[in-house]
Amino acid sequence: TTSYQTNNELVAFRKKHLGRSLSLQYKEPIKMVRGDGPYLIDQFGRRYLDTVNNVAHVGHEHPRVVKAGQQQMALLNTNSRYLHENINALAQELLDTLPKELSVLHFVNSGSEANELAIRMVKAVTGERDIIASEVGYHGNTNMCIDISSYKFDGKGGQGAPDHTHIFPLPDAFRGKYRGENTGLLYAREVQKQIDEVHKKGRGVGALIVEPIISCGGQIELPKGFLKQAYQNIRRAGGLCISDEVQVGCGRMGKTFWGFQLHNVIPDIVTVGKPLGNGHPLAAVACTPEVAEKFANGMEYFNTFGGNPVSCAIGTEVLRVVKEEGLQRNALEVGNYLKTELKGLATKFPILGDVRGEGLFLGIELVDATLKPLAAQTDYLANRMKDYGILMSTDGPYHNVLKIKPPLVFTKGNATELLYYLEKILKEDFMKI
Ligand code: PMP
Repeated sequence: TTSYQTNNELVAFRKKHLGRSLSLQYKEPIKMVRGDGPYLIDQFGRRYLDTVNNVAHVGHEHPRVVKAGQQQMALLNTNSRYLHENINALAQELLDTLPKELSVLHFVNSGSEANELAIRMVKAVTGERDIIASEVGYHGNTNMCIDISSYKFDGKGGQGAPDHTHIFPLPDAFRGKYRGENTGLLYAREVQKQIDEVHKKGRGVGALIVEPIISCGGQIELPKGFLKQAYQNIRRAGGLCISDEVQVGCGRMGKTFWGFQLHNVIPDIVTVGKPLGNGHPLAAVACTPEVAEKFANGMEYFNTFGGNPVSCAIGTEVLRVVKEEGLQRNALEVGNYLKTELKGLATKFPILGDVRGEGLFLGIELVDATLKPLAAQTDYLANRMKDYGILMSTDGPYHNVLKIKPPLVFTKGNATELLYYLEKILKEDFMKI
C-alpha cells in the first residue's frame, strides 16, 4: 500500500500532476477512506450520510457485490470472446426488467461509452447523424457525447451546439418556456420544431436522446404526455428514440424500474451506467433486435473490457440485491416520505420554491419571491449540511437546485436526519450572503 499523505500533500500533488479540469468537492476537500451502506467515512473516522452518490446504488461496498467481484477476480478475467455464464446471467437479469421489445444487449464500461455506442447504432440504422437533445442535458465525456450535451457546450469552455445537434428548450414546468400543468404537448411541439429544422437543412433525423428526469438540468421531471408525443414525432420523421437511464435507472424511480416506464413509452435504445456496477466501471446498451441487426453490418464491435466475467459477476449481483432487498420499493417509500416532508418544509420556508422528482431522485429549487435563482444560498446549504455530516450536491443551469440521489439503501431514519438538519440550517440568517 502507499504511505500516508496529509490532505495538503494530496492537494499539492494533484495540482501539479493531475489535470486542472478535474474538480474537487468542497472548499476544504475531504479524504474518504471507506464506504458503508449510505455512509462515506473520512480519515478521522467521521461518517457522512451520502445523498449524492447514485453510483453506489445498493450501498457503498455492499458485501455481496464485493464478494462477487473478489471471487471472480481470483478465478478469471478475460474479454467476451470466450463463452462464459456471467455475461449471459447479467444479460438475463437485465432482460427480466426490460420490455420484451428491448431484447439485445451490448456491455461497455461507462455511461459515456454506452451513449457513444447508441449514437453509432443510430447512424448505422438511419444513415443520419442529426441528433435532437434537451437543453442542459448531459450524456457523457467523449467527443460525440459532448457534442450532444448542451450542459457542456452551452456552458463554460463550450462553443455552442454543433451543426448536427438540435436542442429543444428544457421542459421545465417551474421556470421554463412553458410553465404549470399541461405543458407536455407544448414541449413536444418544440421537439417537432427541431425536427423541422433538420428537414430545412435537407437532412433526416437520427434520434432523440433524453433522460426521463433531466438530472444536470436540475432534476427536471418531464411533463405528462411529453415523451409519448415527442417519440411519436421522432418516429414519424424516421428517427430512433434513446432513453438515457444512466442516472435514473435500476429501480431509483420507485414506481418503475426504468425512467421511461413512468411515461408509458418503449424506446428503441436504452443506455444504462452508473448504478449497474455499484462503483465498478460497467454499463450497457439495450436495444431492439431491428436496431441490433442493422448495427451488425459486418464491422466487428470489440470492447476489451466490456462484458468481462468480473464486471458481469458484479452487475448480476447488483441487480439481484436490488430485487432481493426490495430496493425499488424502498426508493418509492422513502422517496415519497422525503418528498412530502420537503414540500411541508417549503410551505414554512418559501425560498424552497419547488420540490420535485420521483423515488430517490429529488431536487429542491431555491428562489426568491421574484423567482430569481439563489445560487449562493444553495451553495451555503450544501456546505452547512456537510458541517453536520450530510453530503448533498447542487446543479441546474443556475446552480440553485439541491439534489438528493442517495444509495437506495437510504432509510426513513436517514431521511428524517436530513430533514432535521435542513430545517435547522434554513433557520439561519443566510439570505444576505
Ligand atoms: N448520461 C448521464 C445522464 C450522466 O449523468 C452521465 C454521467 N454523469 C453520463 C451519461 C456519462 O456517464 P459516465 O460518466 O459513466 O461516462
